[in-house]
Amino acid sequence: MSATLLQGKELSLQIQSEIADKVKALTAAGGKVPHLAAVLIGNNGASETYVDHKVKACEKVGFKSTLVRHDDTISEGDLLRVVDELNENDDIDGFIVQLPLPKHIDVNKVIEAIKPSKDVDGFHPINFGRMAGNMPAYIPATPDGIIEMLKRYKIETTGKHTVVVGRSQIVGTPVSILLSRAAYPGDSTVTLCHRHTKDLASFTKSADILVVATGIPGMISGDMVKEGVVVIDVGITRVEDKSRKSGYSLKGDVDFDSVAPKASYITPVPGGVGPMTIASLLKNTFLAAEKAIYKG
Ligand code: NAD
Repeated sequence: MSATLLQGKELSLQIQSEIADKVKALTAAGGKVPHLAAVLIGNNGASETYVDHKVKACEKVGFKSTLVRHDDTISEGDLLRVVDELNENDDIDGFIVQLPLPKHIDVNKVIEAIKPSKDVDGFHPINFGRMAGNMPAYIPATPDGIIEMLKRYKIETTGKHTVVVGRSQIVGTPVSILLSRAAYPGDSTVTLCHRHTKDLASFTKSADILVVATGIPGMISGDMVKEGVVVIDVGITRVEDKSRKSGYSLKGDVDFDSVAPKASYITPVPGGVGPMTIASLLKNTFLAAEKAIYKG
């Protein structure tokens, strides 16, 4: 079998161009320009790159964007005040606080301080609960990007066995909820595996759809999957690569070379799930500007 590549990069550009058209229509009708703010704490290289991509994507689709930067010495109280200012700023439709945060800050306190109507990352318990209840909500960007990818490639999920490896609050757990909901994509039977799962291969081998989000490069090898599996590789890890100018290359959690020959569909890394995440963040920001989920 030769796998079809799930081209997240191309799909993301297509979605961004659809959003850019909607922005033009919205502003032509007298609506305000959607405005996303991103809060970046400290100088974490990967976080800086992610935020930079998000800000650039905003500009490309015609959104306004604001970057709010603070040192990693900021106190929890001061960060909560920053969140509150963004909550109260009527020009800002939605905002994200880039994770991870410094250890002295309670991330849950910060997430809970974000107004649900501006929580375009979908991390607030209200959005998370609404998502689980199949109610309108901001869906976290990476899981939403995965769902959008399955939808646009018309991949059948109903009645399939989906195995999700990794149970983080931002990827694995929401993906497991979304793919078991009574919806399309969804209606699949989901097994959620994590670091305490015994004999992981016994689960992954029975997966029709396999979503991997652990951050362990190459952990899923060809002998752990069955013929025809649909593989969504969320992992992005920088591994040393002296042959590259940057000194590193990006590796997924799936060993592409041994898994792709058995798969029906597979995401490349990079260029698979990553760009879809950006498209979904823009989609959520547009929904926020339209007040499509939370009225008024
Ligand atoms: P995390 O680090 O918060 O959690 C890792 C999960 O993997 C945990 O639930 C843990 O139980 C599980 N795990 C660890 N070892 C395991 C093992 N041996 N067997 C089974 N499960 C095991 O994860 P995260 O924040 O979801 O990130 C995972 C990866 O996805 C990282 O590489 C991250 O960079 C990447 N990521 C990519 C995007 C994107 O836009 N493409 C977005 C978010 C995260």
